[in-house]
Amino acid sequence: MRFTPLVVAASLLAAGSAIAGPCDLEIESNDAMKFNKDSLAVPASCKKVTLKLVHTGKMPKVAMGHNWVLVKTADMQAVATDGIPAGADKGYLKPGDARVLAATKLIGGGESDTISFDTTKLKAGEAYSFFCSFPGHVGLMKGTFALTK
Ligand code: ZN
Repeated sequence: MRFTPLVVAASLLAAGSAIAGPCDLEIESNDAMKFNKDSLAVPASCKKVTLKLVHTGKMPKVAMGHNWVLVKTADMQAVATDGIPAGADKGYLKPGDARVLAATKLIGGGESDTISFDTTKLKAGEAYSFFCSFPGHVGLMKGTFALTK
């Protein structure tokens, strides 16, 4: 597994001055089973966050589907494991799973999905992570999500 701390630091800095606004996030996923960011952050002043997931690859959803799922870091592995039996139609998430704080739909190459979610249910000081719940992807496709002051 590769980590790129410099890129993380740069993306954190850029988040505050992004053209789309500090409450709007965009993240890409690809055919190499990777997100292009391993951390995301929004100011705690954002009541609503908009997140756009883009799949820049060409592979179909059945082979290389991706979604973006927000959970407490402590819940991530269990949510991923419990989601596998739900199947592709449910985006590999257990229906009604209260541990899922936000999730895009599962998309394939060339597709995108945009969601918006409330930050009022997120607590300052809690550790949050995002990941892809497609079976086997959580090992590589994950990152941290933070509310910043
Ligand atoms: Zn994936």
